[in-house]
Amino acid sequence: MRSPPLCWAFTERLAMMTTATTTRATRIAAPPSNRNLHRGIIHRTFAHQNSSADRKDIIKNDSFPEYVQKPFFTFEVLHESKRSRARACKITTPHGTIFTPAFVAVGTQGALKAVPHSVLDDANLDLMFANTYHLLLQPGHEHLQKAGGIHKFIGRNRPTISDSGGFQVFSLGLDADELDESKSPNKNNNGNNNNNNNGERNHGGTGTKELKSRGKTKHKQQNLLEKVDEDGVTFRSYRDGTTLKLTPESSVQAQKNIGCDIILPLDELTKYDISLQELSESVDRSHRWETRSLYEHLKNVKEQAMYAIIHGGVDERLRKKSVEYLTSLPFDGYAIGGSLGKNREELKELLQFLMPIIPRDKPNHLLGIGDLPSIAHGVRMGVDSFDSAYPTQIARHGTLLSENGPVNYRKSEYREHFGKPAEILGNSSGDDECKCLLCRKHSLSYLAHLDRANEPMAWSLATEHNLHFMGRTMERHRQAIMNDEI
Ligand SMILES: [Zn+2]
Repeated sequence: MRSPPLCWAFTERLAMMTTATTTRATRIAAPPSNRNLHRGIIHRTFAHQNSSADRKDIIKNDSFPEYVQKPFFTFEVLHESKRSRARACKITTPHGTIFTPAFVAVGTQGALKAVPHSVLDDANLDLMFANTYHLLLQPGHEHLQKAGGIHKFIGRNRPTISDSGGFQVFSLGLDADELDESKSPNKNNNGNNNNNNNGERNHGGTGTKELKSRGKTKHKQQNLLEKVDEDGVTFRSYRDGTTLKLTPESSVQAQKNIGCDIILPLDELTKYDISLQELSESVDRSHRWETRSLYEHLKNVKEQAMYAIIHGGVDERLRKKSVEYLTSLPFDGYAIGGSLGKNREELKELLQFLMPIIPRDKPNHLLGIGDLPSIAHGVRMGVDSFDSAYPTQIARHGTLLSENGPVNYRKSEYREHFGKPAEILGNSSGDDECKCLLCRKHSLSYLAHLDRANEPMAWSLATEHNLHFMGRTMERHRQAIMNDEI
């Protein structure tokens, strides 16, 4: 079997730090001309970050307004399982409803590779992910603004989420040895890293030695990451070599122009194998960047929700600190980012201590995880949504998801399988059978033929099947929660 690319990855304090007497909340309501004042405050905050006493000022930031649920973004728990932390919820956005637990398909460039958006609706997948980094470079966030935002531009009036662009930018700085390592076909064959050649999203990973790896992309033939400093990240465009800078503020502005329903703050991504001290410093920087991102977002909310990104790697103390800090700010939900461990077992352990301390009154999202065992465990631990390019990537590389495990449709044994694909993929009878085009109309033999003939329809059929499979899997999880079965 060809190894598929797998995805696995201030009020009184403010007054103390500045001479101002008004709260930051007041400033948020003030006209945009206060931007410089805001930046001044932020930079002074950074200037005070050297001592641990001043860090406490940053961590207990009470200058933001109290969180109030927004009319355009509501969260409702439909049922909490009596057997686990699992819960079925409903998130309402300006572009429709997301039922959770949900799998979020990745449409990197504002498109799912090889299939139209309608496949998501047919597969019962509500939310689609878009990558700010890719949209920044092509066609440009101003272009999307001109078009009236991503929903109008791509012609899908359903919920969307975008990342900050930081993950891909940081991944440009992978070391040469990591690049070599990621070329090994058997590395991380675990369902959660995205060693892809197309730059699809694989958020939160820190190299190839872990569960959720950045992997290699065609953009990484040279080191395009130029500088990381307190202000942001400087990098060169893989398209034309132009030097660009991503700051918390510019990332949020780009995401405002793109216009997804849920946006994410800029955070720092580090390698997996760094010292605890380095990780701790990175968590602090992510917190400062996320604070700046939220501040920028609240100046002009534009019917968008922003999730915080909880960091801290697999270190329990740092994760707890991250939860404590980020839950003190008025984010609309919580994403779990950063390194999630070397393997599923570490992810499991991480979720076991992390999920019970994440507040249950807002939605949460596990970044970059899409393998079925991890999703099943995450659901029981109370995770609301998961995103990964895994199901769509493996489809284009010869793998169909099935009730009986992954099926490599390039194997010779399927060349003459003329019967219903469900005979191999499961669910050949009953109400739960796959409603994708491949399972309804074609055979594995035909699929194998199209693939060998390099007919793009092969990848369309396989992608559609895998998305239907993910949709059915999540529907089963939701039903099992409603019935208190998990
Ligand atoms: Zn199917």
